[in-house]
Amino acid sequence: MAGDGSQLIFWAAPDGASSVEITWIVPAAGRRGRDKRVPRPEATHARVRRWGGIEPGEQVMSLEDADRLVQELELYQAQQAVIGIEQARRRQARIASLTSRCPHCDVARAYVGLEQLLEGSRSRVAFLGDVWGTSNVDVHMYQCTYCGSIELFRDGGPIDHPLPGSAEADPGPGPT
Ligand SMILES: [Zn+2]
Repeated sequence: MAGDGSQLIFWAAPDGASSVEITWIVPAAGRRGRDKRVPRPEATHARVRRWGGIEPGEQVMSLEDADRLVQELELYQAQQAVIGIEQARRRQARIASLTSRCPHCDVARAYVGLEQLLEGSRSRVAFLGDVWGTSNVDVHMYQCTYCGSIELFRDGGPIDHPLPGSAEADPGPGPT
């Protein structure tokens, strides 16, 4: 990798290439008739190497073609970045809208609090507050006010608790 502005590397391309390396050159101007690597303003051609994709391999192209390729790859890179930002935004929105809903009563469960789940070592059966357990797991518990069904979320996960949509511990109007 050169820090002299003679090379560009892109890590993705529309054709599925895993990387595309563009080196600005003056053909046969280097030692022993080799191509000389130069910064873009001094170049007369570009050597393009592609890994993967539809057309892997090396080719020498005109500056015009290489500039078009760079533009295409930069655009693709920008589009991929936007897609990444959009996915992160959707994930945030999904987490923000999460609720523990009781499927039986169709109401939001109420947040009970942090409970200790004790996990049995052999049977792998989980107990709540049972002294025979061996490994502790902290869980956030939500309970349906009407039917008592519960849902657990492991503490320290990617989601903050209580969930924004959880019901008040105090029961509101019942299910219809
Ligand atoms: Zn319920």
